Amino acid sequence: MHTISVQKNWDVIIIGGGIIGLSTAWALARQGLQVALFEKGTVGAEQSSRNWGWIRSLRRDLAELPMALRVNETWSKLQEQVNVGYRKTGLAYFASSEQEMASHEKWLAAARQIGVKGELLGRAAAEDLVGGTKQPLAGALYSAEDGVAEPQMVPGIVAKLAAFAGVKIVENCAVRGLDVAGGKVVGVWTEQGRFGAAAVVCAGGIWSRLFCGNFGINLPQLKVAATAFETTPIGNGPQVALNGGEYTCRPHCSGGYVISKLNASIVEIVPDSFKLFWKFFPAWRAESKLLKLRFGKKFFEELAVPTKFSMEQVSPFEKNRVYDAIPTERTISQAMDSVRLAFPQFAQTKIARQWGGLIDVTPDALPIISGVGSTPGLFIATGFSGHGFGIGFAAGDMMAGIIFDKSNRNRREEDAFSFDRFDLG
Ligand SMILES: Cc1cc2nc3c(=O)[nH]c(=O)nc-3n(C[C@H](O)[C@H](O)[C@H](O)COP(=O)(O)OP(=O)(O)OC[C@H]3O[C@@H](n4cnc5c(N)ncnc54)[C@H](O)[C@@H]3O)c2cc1C
Repeated sequence: MHTISVQKNWDVIIIGGGIIGLSTAWALARQGLQVALFEKGTVGAEQSSRNWGWIRSLRRDLAELPMALRVNETWSKLQEQVNVGYRKTGLAYFASSEQEMASHEKWLAAARQIGVKGELLGRAAAEDLVGGTKQPLAGALYSAEDGVAEPQMVPGIVAKLAAFAGVKIVENCAVRGLDVAGGKVVGVWTEQGRFGAAAVVCAGGIWSRLFCGNFGINLPQLKVAATAFETTPIGNGPQVALNGGEYTCRPHCSGGYVISKLNASIVEIVPDSFKLFWKFFPAWRAESKLLKLRFGKKFFEELAVPTKFSMEQVSPFEKNRVYDAIPTERTISQAMDSVRLAFPQFAQTKIARQWGGLIDVTPDALPIISGVGSTPGLFIATGFSGHGFGIGFAAGDMMAGIIFDKSNRNRREEDAFSFDRFDLG
């Protein structure tokens, strides 16, 4: 095997080249730290390039809102520097009933206290916003501040910016595990040998639970499968990003639309589903109408993956360089039908490309951005539960601040994302 030339000791090593690992690495390098990032496949090839590209404050958990508000400035500045497809398109949640309007109103009252500049639109204003629709509406929740960027463009560009700031990015090199001495993390073992570091960040997306579990760290994380597609260009679709209740639909910079079906995410039943049953049960009960359970070959695939492995063996991470989830055809045709009912101008659009993605979720659907008390030197930035693309830069800044132990940290804000919030007994 050809050996990479990477210096052997670093201030911080990052595991995973998705938006979260890249943003953390970039933030640390801008502060002058020596940072290396190891990616088992290609940067951004898992969740970070497969998402819808929404950058939203609307309907976020209140705990994430400060990050969602701060991050808009980063996106704007980035777009001034280099094209990542960022546009403040505005974003709307259609409401089909007065009950839904009341729910949006309640959320907005609380979100406004934090600084969200959303508004409630009546039926006529909601229809105007999208240039007319056949969908029966009660109104909409709308924010002109929210927008979209193109996930296929973003990770590669952030990787270049991070490399320019000094981050050493090593692709096709899995981190097999931690090097722990005297109870403290002192580096990592990769498929290309050992590298020392004063701090290690696990930003491994759907792989983080497996990675941490090998060291006795019980990270509560499951996976949800989702499907999305992009249409061929059409000239007269809605210009805002839209949650239509049954579907989502947002303009792509190609002139087409990125569309998905809502309430069609699939929770694969896997061995971890049983191990984490009680931790996820309240979330599953609350969201049971939105999620579909599936028992199939994924159960046996995961059963065959060892949960304990040595640093000398080929690890499960290098056996699967890029997890390529299969999109569901039925979901695609249902989503396309819903969009065509709402917007007949989509009648002739074709599907330009389609893809699947696995989303990493935690029991409270909030990320972990935190040190690990039991394992000094280890930090975790994972579990973004389907919301991590938009706030990725702010999450990277937060993770970097925690590693630096900056005096001006907002510990109250960070508490919601601490690893210790879970009862890991
Ligand atoms: C279909 C879909 C739609 C979504 N829509 C949105 C949206 O509109 N807006 C939004 O904000 N978010 C959205 N998300 C969520 C968002 O994409 C994720 O929250 C975000 O990309 C997570 O980034 P990450 O860096 O944590 O994970 P990932 O992008 O998955 O990156 C993790 C990386 O770690 C690498 N890795 C793992 N283990 C190792 C190891 N041991 N050694 C080396 N490398 C390793 C993996 O190969 C991977 O590249 C969506 C997700 C999906 C799938």
